[in-house]
Amino acid sequence: MKNNCIFCAIAEGEIPSFKVYEDEKVVAYLDINPFTEGHTLVIPKTHSEGLLDTEEETLAAIITRVKKVAAHLKSALPCDGFNILQNNGEAAGQTVKHVHFHIVPRYGNSPIVFESHAGDMGQLKALADRIRMA
Ligand code: AMP
Ligand code: ZN
Repeated sequence: MKNNCIFCAIAEGEIPSFKVYEDEKVVAYLDINPFTEGHTLVIPKTHSEGLLDTEEETLAAIITRVKKVAAHLKSALPCDGFNILQNNGEAAGQTVKHVHFHIVPRYGNSPIVFESHAGDMGQLKALADRIRMA
């Protein structure tokens, strides 16, 4: 596995993911421990650890895809709003050392309780199949 990095392995297609969007620069796929239904991660295909060691050009590419995927999720799920999270360092809760942006869909006026649960693989697959972008 390149860099011993699980997200590089996902980007290279070496391990499976519930992919929602992919282009030459980024991959977006469902988080397997979602905060809410449709919780999606957007990563660059090139490896860097966090925001601070990521090239500006790459960051620009990621954030434009975050916008594109979030807009799609809003209508495809549908959801009422969404949070963007981006953790840097263990102290901030970063567990995977490959830069990534979380898109967390929000529904109605449910309170902000960021408590994840183990996802059901069958439901995740069905959801990815339903909302995957062409
Ligand atoms: P962070 O805490 O910001 O580093 O977030 C890492 C996220 O990656 C967590 O929400 C995990 O649930 C998620 N995650 C870890 N491994 C995988 C995987 N193989 N496929 C999808 N999501 C993953
Ligand atoms: Zn990586």
